[in-house]
Amino acid sequence: MFDRRQLLRGAAALAAARFLGAAASARIDEQPVAGGVYPFASGVASGDPSADGFVLWTRLTGEATDRGVGYEIAADEGFRRIVRRGRALAPAGRGGSVHLEIGGLAPGRPYFYRFHHAGVASSVGRTLTAPLSADRLRLALTSCQHWEQGWFSGYRDMIAGQADLVMQVGDYIYEKSFGAGPDVRRFGAPEPRTLDDYRARYALYRSDPDLAAAHAALPFVVTWDDHEVENDYAGDAGAATVDRQAFLARRAAAYQAYFEFMPLRPSTLRAGGEVRLYRRLRWGALATLHVLDTRQYRTPHPCATATAHGGQVIEDCAAALASDATMLGGAQERWLAAGLASERARWSLVAQQTLFARLALPQGPGARYSDIWDGYAATRDRTLAALAAPAVRNAVVLGGDVHSFWLNDVRRDFAKPETPVVASEIVTSCLASRPGPAALFGPAPRLNPHVRLLDNGHAGYVMLDITPARFAIDLRKVDRLADPRSVCSSLATRTILDRRPGFTA
Ligand code: FE
Ligand code: CA
Repeated sequence: MFDRRQLLRGAAALAAARFLGAAASARIDEQPVAGGVYPFASGVASGDPSADGFVLWTRLTGEATDRGVGYEIAADEGFRRIVRRGRALAPAGRGGSVHLEIGGLAPGRPYFYRFHHAGVASSVGRTLTAPLSADRLRLALTSCQHWEQGWFSGYRDMIAGQADLVMQVGDYIYEKSFGAGPDVRRFGAPEPRTLDDYRARYALYRSDPDLAAAHAALPFVVTWDDHEVENDYAGDAGAATVDRQAFLARRAAAYQAYFEFMPLRPSTLRAGGEVRLYRRLRWGALATLHVLDTRQYRTPHPCATATAHGGQVIEDCAAALASDATMLGGAQERWLAAGLASERARWSLVAQQTLFARLALPQGPGARYSDIWDGYAATRDRTLAALAAPAVRNAVVLGGDVHSFWLNDVRRDFAKPETPVVASEIVTSCLASRPGPAALFGPAPRLNPHVRLLDNGHAGYVMLDITPARFAIDLRKVDRLADPRSVCSSLATRTILDRRPGFTA
């Protein structure tokens, strides 16, 4: 039995499948070439859809001069109904990147786009505008893609699963190798430190056919974690790079390259090198996506020592509880609280980087891991109060970073299981990397009754299917991470019901 919506979804599926067939046939090495260099080798991308537009992105490879690029946006994949065309600048000072902010389009529908330069066309990208009155959102949540440690097969599954949006919560690149040797392929370059180094790392990532296809097929909403600069940095304090001036120079280069390669609004890049990633996206009255940045404005890790920088297991550390130990910085924290206080959507999604819930550790009752929200407990308490605002009907915290899947009840007081659940936390595993630390995570379900599901054995991502009454969660595992042709399958599914925080079967 088909109702109208099913028929429409069937038509959309057919269109997406046809589009993917076309994208797959337009291989980069088959593209026409101007002067020996294909100018769109980094592909095309879109991001941050609003009800009347989105950001379109590309990057011209080749010579380091300011150049122009033409663009076309069409209502159909065949470009018979062009709705917008124009020219944009690809400045040399931004590595030839183009960040095009488009407005004035119709809500809730797909659009197709392509770029032109020197007589050569880019491949075709597909994107969409957010609906004004939404009854469904399919959101793919992903993080942690290590080039050397696995293939990016999860992206094929997101496309096949007809995600509306991809929410990438950080570790989009890794700056270095970890542990014993590469598992599937090599960076082939030393750790990036300069702007050109980081640009080359992003260009390498975009040469991955699954990542490139995902950017062409789906709009991304991105925020970073630590590895976009270096492991476990905190605000203006490096972890691997101890010298302050050297770290600030490295961070500035890394931030600039991140902006250059991501489909972000031009206004994201601020004076003084700030990249303002905290922002809000609306999906009609169904969902608001509050995107956070828990790296750029952090205070240094509490109880770090002269010899141990970055995340540590710390014990009985008063600084982790201090009210001025901040994960968000004052401005972002006030912005989040104000946004939640005036929330109008059914589902409030807070997309951030790392584990939000308390993680009691086997080292003892006073032990905590300093790189996650446990290291900044006062910020978490204040954020919990903001999530409990009367205007918030359903709060869901989304995260990544810990290379394992978690579903947690977020309680007002984690030490008191009788206190109310104010939010549901969904943490995605790594898209392509190794499991989290078993010694820390293994005992977690026993020591933390609010941990309702933990899987530290698979890479993958999370597909969310959000409707007014039900919020369906599908933990998607990559079946064989070392096989570039691997498929994904469901590891577990759970549901959150309207006005019922926590998880049901
Ligand atoms: Fe990671
Ligand atoms: Ca991380």
